[in-house]
Amino acid sequence: MQVLAYLSERDLHLKNMLPELNRKLSKLTPSELNALRISLMKGTINNLSDWMRNIAESLLQGIAEVERVLKSLLKVGESLSAGTLVITRKSDEGFYVLSPDPLTYIQASGRTSRFLNDKMTLGLSVIFELDIKNIEAFRRKMNIFSRNFELKKLSELNLKEISNLLDSSRRGERGVKSFRPAKSLLMIVESPNKARTIAWYFGRPSRRKFGKIVAYEVPIIDDETLDTYLVTIVATKGHMYDLITDEGIGLHGVILSGDEFIPVYTPISKCYSCGRTFSNLEGVCPYCGERLKIGRSTEILQALRKLSLESEEVVIATDPDIEGEKIAWDVYLMLKPFSKRISRAEFHEVTPDAIVKSLRNLREVNSARVAAQIVRRITDRWIGFPLSTLLKEKYGKPWLGAGRVQIPVLGWSINRYVEWKRDAGYFVKVKGDNGIEITYFRKKREDAEALANAIMKQGYLEVHSFEKKTEEFNPAPPYTTDSLLFDAGKRLKLGATYAMKLLQDLFEAGLITYHRTDSTHISNKGIQVAKEYFDKVIRRPDLFFPRAWGKEGAHEAIRPTKPIDAEELKRQILDGSVKVPLNFSPRHFELYDMIFRRFIAGQARASLVEKAVLKLKSPEGDIVEKEIVLREVQDGALSVGKAEFNLNAESIAASGKVIVRKEMIAIYRSSLTPLHSEGSLIKLMKEREIGRPSTYAKTIDSLKRHGYVIISSKRGFVVPTKTGIEIHEFLTTNYTDLVTEEATRDLEKKMDAIESGRDAYEKVTSELYEKLRTIGLLSKSVLNTNAQGFLGEALT
Ligand SMILES: [Zn+2]
Repeated sequence: MQVLAYLSERDLHLKNMLPELNRKLSKLTPSELNALRISLMKGTINNLSDWMRNIAESLLQGIAEVERVLKSLLKVGESLSAGTLVITRKSDEGFYVLSPDPLTYIQASGRTSRFLNDKMTLGLSVIFELDIKNIEAFRRKMNIFSRNFELKKLSELNLKEISNLLDSSRRGERGVKSFRPAKSLLMIVESPNKARTIAWYFGRPSRRKFGKIVAYEVPIIDDETLDTYLVTIVATKGHMYDLITDEGIGLHGVILSGDEFIPVYTPISKCYSCGRTFSNLEGVCPYCGERLKIGRSTEILQALRKLSLESEEVVIATDPDIEGEKIAWDVYLMLKPFSKRISRAEFHEVTPDAIVKSLRNLREVNSARVAAQIVRRITDRWIGFPLSTLLKEKYGKPWLGAGRVQIPVLGWSINRYVEWKRDAGYFVKVKGDNGIEITYFRKKREDAEALANAIMKQGYLEVHSFEKKTEEFNPAPPYTTDSLLFDAGKRLKLGATYAMKLLQDLFEAGLITYHRTDSTHISNKGIQVAKEYFDKVIRRPDLFFPRAWGKEGAHEAIRPTKPIDAEELKRQILDGSVKVPLNFSPRHFELYDMIFRRFIAGQARASLVEKAVLKLKSPEGDIVEKEIVLREVQDGALSVGKAEFNLNAESIAASGKVIVRKEMIAIYRSSLTPLHSEGSLIKLMKEREIGRPSTYAKTIDSLKRHGYVIISSKRGFVVPTKTGIEIHEFLTTNYTDLVTEEATRDLEKKMDAIESGRDAYEKVTSELYEKLRTIGLLSKSVLNTNAQGFLGEALT
């Protein structure tokens, strides 16, 4: 399979066959794969079921094709490297595929040094291999485990000196690394996938079970500081506490006591009947009434407490944003009585390097960030709850609701819809024989039909003018959350929520940096990843043009963590070199591919491209200008980013026409002003500074859930519904000060100010409280609540 994947780039015939075969094979279970393997080896594929035999036959056909291509490529005795594989032709018929096995190497070479007391002796490991290609493939795979791994030629070493060094290290004299006594550490993350990824990096973890909760145990050694840790890794499975929803407790869960605003948080429960989560005291599902099949986050808390008692130190390594900080805060408070030392570790990529470094730079939980998250939650509640109640009562529809960011975004989609209707008409789409595509617009259907008929009758479009020009093509900055969601929607047709889920998976598998980010900056570490790719993978150091893309800040752009492109990633996951904690779908790889190429293009020199500017004239005289990239005069960012180059425009120029066949003309209804997509709304959210990387997708999702917009199935356009338009009108008329774009932006800025410590939690909360009171959104019953009473009860 891996050979097929590699050769697909070279052989057009295989290129079509491969994805089909890949798709079929990826659907097989491990035991089916094994059955397939055995019957292929024994030559008994006729005993298989029809569809399995079908797969076996295409596989045999594929293997025959690969051999045919390999034979044309390799003479006897020659070899070629494919990613981290090396294929050698040993005889006329015999091909060998070699794949380095770094894990076995690590285990074996580890035997050359020993722990003596608390000291590690030095060792020498020697690899015998003639083919330099195998050595290079091995080195690249080892780099996944250790960035600093380098091999030396035996001839470069002074063996006498090394022998002395080894001896003296065994006597405890020279060159000995003296490790500190291992410290037991409890590392808490939020996701089980992230826990597994971390555990795998540091050897084969042992597992312990606490009910449904799994903890992994691995040793982590910091080569630089020589600190050693025995780490137990466990996941909280997301947020553990949320603002209480029981009625009568303060103002929607926030008690007003004198000048103070005290939010009441309670453990989150999960209903196994309907799958939803809730946060009330009673523990009964408010959605379906389930009382028994309820999971509470307190179960996880019990396990965490038990584990923290066994550990010298607790390290909370939740995601690096304010939501992660809030989870860290909850964990901190809950474990405080059980642990002497609790700190926060922050890493923006799940890689061994970043994890070890974060342990060197432990800090306290950042209370300003926590306060910012709490105010966000309070604001969502205080605005969301009363508005939702109002809408439900007014319209009699229990699913209605409103949040502060949703309404301005709904407004944009409505405005765009109005413009879309205003500019609606008919497009005549014409495809030339040479792949060139042009559209003409007509307001009326009959005019569009007349134009289509005229083109059909003439059979071609006339070339009005033709020019060539050479231009520099500079790459775009690497992805931030908004630009990535935009492209994911446009190119891969992925909805924002689904794309965010895939990104979370890629992040937790250690393949990309944190995906909730506003920054385009690339760190030195990232630039090294690109350098490695240009130097060692595509062997084009001349293309490398490092760019930092802006100043260093708390965050980085979304980029790959390893110099591995999507094709090679597939191979390495398949052969076990890269282990990921979940089954990746083709969508994961497509998204990874997009991120990888955008990042690599951004570290490549500019391309010089030759463009053709064609002006084409229709029989009715419209002239449409078309720009076509002909070729790269100097290769660089464009080809590295996988751009496709177009047809030979010169032949069109020479013939003076673009030939059009009848079936290549289509008429469809659309508009000169396109509707918003999820991606373009998110882009606008970023531009207008409302919403944040962590809330972009959620906002769109809420609009869909409340039935205010629908997404057109074909092109992913956001279309406001009648209800959406009605509710927008109602809210913007009656609660202008609360739901306009300006009000939302103003509030976001205040929350940012809290996050960076420039503004106080109390100030912003009381301002909002006053505002809501003036508007009249606070019902009397809420204000009459005996807050002190509840607090008193809660504290006893
Ligand atoms: Zn339920």
